[in-house]
Amino acid sequence: MNNFKKNDLGSLFVSKPLKGQHALITGGSRGIGAAISNALAALGANISLLARDNKTLINQSDHLKAEFGANVFYASTDITNEEEIDGSFNRSIDANGPIDILINNAGIGKSMPFHKMDLDFWKATLDLNLTGTFLCTKQVYENMRERGYGRIINISSTVGLRGYPYIAAYTASKHAVIGLTRTLALEAVKKGITVNAICPGYTETDLVSEAIDNIAKTSGRDKKNIKTEIENMSPMGRLVTPEEVAESVAWLCLPSSASITGQAIVVAGGSVM
Ligand code: NDP
Repeated sequence: MNNFKKNDLGSLFVSKPLKGQHALITGGSRGIGAAISNALAALGANISLLARDNKTLINQSDHLKAEFGANVFYASTDITNEEEIDGSFNRSIDANGPIDILINNAGIGKSMPFHKMDLDFWKATLDLNLTGTFLCTKQVYENMRERGYGRIINISSTVGLRGYPYIAAYTASKHAVIGLTRTLALEAVKKGITVNAICPGYTETDLVSEAIDNIAKTSGRDKKNIKTEIENMSPMGRLVTPEEVAESVAWLCLPSSASITGQAIVVAGGSVM
């Protein structure tokens, strides 16, 4: 006899499982961050978006309101500036309540051969990708501990798990984000807070088109050929879509994902295993 009841199913099977929760997404105005905001709004969350450019923030905010009826807060914020971060987090909490879900997504991935890389280049990457993740996590962590609940998801990369040439600063920053994820997961685990990293492979966003433009400019090669070469680096022969990354993030945000913590989950068509 099967005693399994409908209520035994996890929050994946509940309509709007994130209803009433507040999710803040850094770099939520476009690319992977915008796709994550769509996925979380579709699951019922109230959304806060932080990025620098107001126009793209307004576009994405309008989209979330029209498509999902979400409550949306946005604020132009440089995630390398502690004062701006502090002001925007406080205002987002005034607008949408305490933060249940933090997605540390804002990031840059510029390339430069190591012998040409100077300290300014190095610092610009580490300040945003690593220290920005630290500063934003500090904004929510104490309150999550007090409330005994939280979901922190850091967008790392496959470059956080292995080396690639010409992106030493990017690779170092994304490896470090995974180290932070694993350590904080252990410190937070008894407080109902999970901390995970998602590691996308090459994903169809501005970050990759800018990288292609950069390679084309320095090598004189055809952009279409460069894109095909990048696609063929994946066993599936194509780029990952932002929506595929977003759905993995959404799954980790569910209340029923409480036992998944300290993981670096690869979304890359088998590129890294
Ligand atoms: P995009 O360049 O498409 O978007 C980056 C987002 O971050 C934008 O919203 C941008 O807005 C914001 N951002 C950039 N700099 C800052 C800053 N200083 N302060 C606040 N916001 C900032 O990138 P992706 O969507 O591709 O990348 C998102 C994350 O995913 C990054 O961490 C990246 O490293 C990671 N990733 C991407 C992969 C890819 O192939 N695309 C693969 C693996 C990981 P604005 O410019 O207005 O500030």
